[in-house]
Amino acid sequence: MDKLNIEPLSSWPGYAGQSPYIIAGPCSAESREQVLATATQLAATGKVHALRAGVWKPRSRPGAFEGAGIEALEWLQEAKNQTGLALAIEVATPQHAEQALKYGIDILWVGARTVSNPFSVEQLANALRGTSAYVMVKNPVNPDLELWIGAIERLYRSGITRLAAIHRGFFPFEKTTLRNLPKWEITIDLRSRMPNLPIICDPSHIAGKASIVPTIAQKAIDLMADGLMVEVHNNPKVALSDAQQQLTPSAFNDMLNALSIKSSTTSDTPFCDKLKQFRSKIDSIDQQLLELLAQRMNIVKEIGEFKKQCNVKPYQESRWENIVDSRVQYGLQIGLSEEYIKSLLQLVHKESIRKQAEIMDTDSNGNA
Ligand code: PEP
Ligand code: MN
Repeated sequence: MDKLNIEPLSSWPGYAGQSPYIIAGPCSAESREQVLATATQLAATGKVHALRAGVWKPRSRPGAFEGAGIEALEWLQEAKNQTGLALAIEVATPQHAEQALKYGIDILWVGARTVSNPFSVEQLANALRGTSAYVMVKNPVNPDLELWIGAIERLYRSGITRLAAIHRGFFPFEKTTLRNLPKWEITIDLRSRMPNLPIICDPSHIAGKASIVPTIAQKAIDLMADGLMVEVHNNPKVALSDAQQQLTPSAFNDMLNALSIKSSTTSDTPFCDKLKQFRSKIDSIDQQLLELLAQRMNIVKEIGEFKKQCNVKPYQESRWENIVDSRVQYGLQIGLSEEYIKSLLQLVHKESIRKQAEIMDTDSNGNA
């Protein structure tokens, strides 16, 4: 698709042109009191442009809090009247979109699970045809840039030009420090593919934990984000969804005050910019490599315990030969040299054996 004719972020609701664009609010609208208390405190920071809240919640398991529905739209309307903040909610079906527009919601976003399904995105795009809605498209759950771009294109083809992407990270198949892997390299690629599409980072769903949110927010701003969407709850401890990752209004205010926003300098030539993008991709991939090595080591430790119980020695010749053969074969297929794979494997294997030997030598009280 040719360069999209997308409206700049400067025309978005509540935005007076300062950077970045800030959307904040609870994961879910839970009660009138919670919405109004949170909105009032957010407006008092003077730095928030729009209030977010989940009205219909996509939950992994049935029975969890699924949102307050239409009633919540009334609370949000009241919050808008009281604070002047623009409103942003998630929509997953044409009915949600219709209700949202009826209740004066300014910005709609398509959630990660919905974006993963082209049928749902197409239905939403058709429902929004001819409206002047602002629409944000979260990245899909899987790290599939084409699926993300496809969802943006579907909305654009329905005449929606007030578009932005939200980067909320990708589901990790193993347990990692972060709830969702940022894979910044994918957002950097999105920027190159759609240079005038605003990108808003949702550090809350990447972090999964309130204490990590500021670090992710800063990283996003440093890399390329034009705005942030942050989960803030007036009392996170009692939140009905995503309690661990929601900031209190005061922690959120501290985070915004500490955020360092670098304006472009003369050193930001296209060359430096490109180099920065390449390095950011390498940084992000290295971090994922380390996470994977840590996951591997955790399994190595479990095997160590297991071998100890079964009285098996840490090193088995046949297993090692099999590892080298299969990895070299696969590595060659994906363009890595035999020498490189072998030296890397040796390093990884040596550390595994050392760890297992350590486990064997330790008695059940943890004494070496
Ligand atoms: C949310 O923003 O509360 C939400 C459900 O996000 P996601 O679609 O990214 O999981
Ligand atoms: Mn949430």
